[in-house]
Amino acid sequence: MFAHLIRFIRDQYRTKDFIPLHAPVFNGQERNYVLETIDSTFVSSVGAFVDRFENEMAAYTGSPRAVATVNGTAALHAALLLAGVKRGELVITQSLTFIATCNAINYCGAEPVFIDVDRHTLGLSPSALDAWLQDNARMDSEGTCRTKDDDKIIRACLPMHTFGHPVALDDLLGVCTRWNLVLVEDAAESLGSFYKGRHTGTFGQLGTLSFNGNKIITTGGGGMILANEELGKRAKHLTTTAKKPHPYEFVHDEVGFNYRLPNLNAALGCAQLEQLEGFIAAKRSLAARYAEELQGSDLQFFHEPHDCRSNYWLNAVICESGEQRDALIKTTNDQGVMTRPIWKLMNHLPIYAHCRKGDLSNAEWLEVRVVNLPSSVLPEFLQ
Ligand SMILES: *Cc1c(COP(=O)(O)O)cnc(C)c1O
Repeated sequence: MFAHLIRFIRDQYRTKDFIPLHAPVFNGQERNYVLETIDSTFVSSVGAFVDRFENEMAAYTGSPRAVATVNGTAALHAALLLAGVKRGELVITQSLTFIATCNAINYCGAEPVFIDVDRHTLGLSPSALDAWLQDNARMDSEGTCRTKDDDKIIRACLPMHTFGHPVALDDLLGVCTRWNLVLVEDAAESLGSFYKGRHTGTFGQLGTLSFNGNKIITTGGGGMILANEELGKRAKHLTTTAKKPHPYEFVHDEVGFNYRLPNLNAALGCAQLEQLEGFIAAKRSLAARYAEELQGSDLQFFHEPHDCRSNYWLNAVICESGEQRDALIKTTNDQGVMTRPIWKLMNHLPIYAHCRKGDLSNAEWLEVRVVNLPSSVLPEFLQ
């Protein structure tokens, strides 16, 4: 069982050794740029590479501002605070996501509300969101969205672009506008993914990226907040201890965070960003080969949604059943080809089981069927 698929993957990576799900590639100026920071002694919280990384990321994504942070979770935490999320409020997100999305809401003292995903995007479903709001929310006299039963403020909506595939942003924006919810995008997995020609993470008031070791580009650890000029300026302030600019005095005008990305990490990021489009070309090519290989098989390859260019960060298949999923994961991993199930739904974790939720049929259906396949850049793209 799955012998064809395993042979196909081994052929792609041309190895009999262990094949990981996603390995970083350092095939550019990484060594030079990192050494430059050491030679200059500017390895820490200020340095030319931080500014350069922010400017180049703003240019690449088309965001007016990009603010580097120590990791993607910190970026999300700060973005939600900047979106105005306060203690005791609610933030809507999808139940099918990585834990960081949910934890960031929790760090604000807010609570997540879990809404279903669409099967064709793997991301937050605009129609499920609207249906839940119709049943459970009202607009108060000031135009604030509140729960009908206990009058809690529903402040923001935080969709996530699963495996790099954009959610239905037009429809989602429509629902958020109607209900006066601040849209914040968790674009941690979708650097290089565009929806109708525009980069993910730039549709909401704020968006966030991650450069963890397993993401499409890495800084070792790192993240980024995407925002307009005004919020970007506030993001920089909030994530750099809220210190008022002064040559020597320490005046901090609010409780800020030390969420800065060190220059050492930003140097790695600058070198990685130079290779991003090449990585995406390699990943899209691999995705096309998986799609062809799996055509007519009972594993359904997951394709990018219409009107999108996805980065295909992690390739995914949808199995026919949970039993088939278990067999696929066991067989491949036993043979040194790493595959992985999708995350457990957030509402299935004891820490978030008490949270409000809508109907989650699609998320539950996907939870037991989705498997990620090896997705590293193929060796032939690394000449
Ligand atoms: C990677 C990731 C993050 C951020 O992770 P960090 O490791 O903190 O950079 C957030 N959300 C999602 C969906 C992710 O995949």
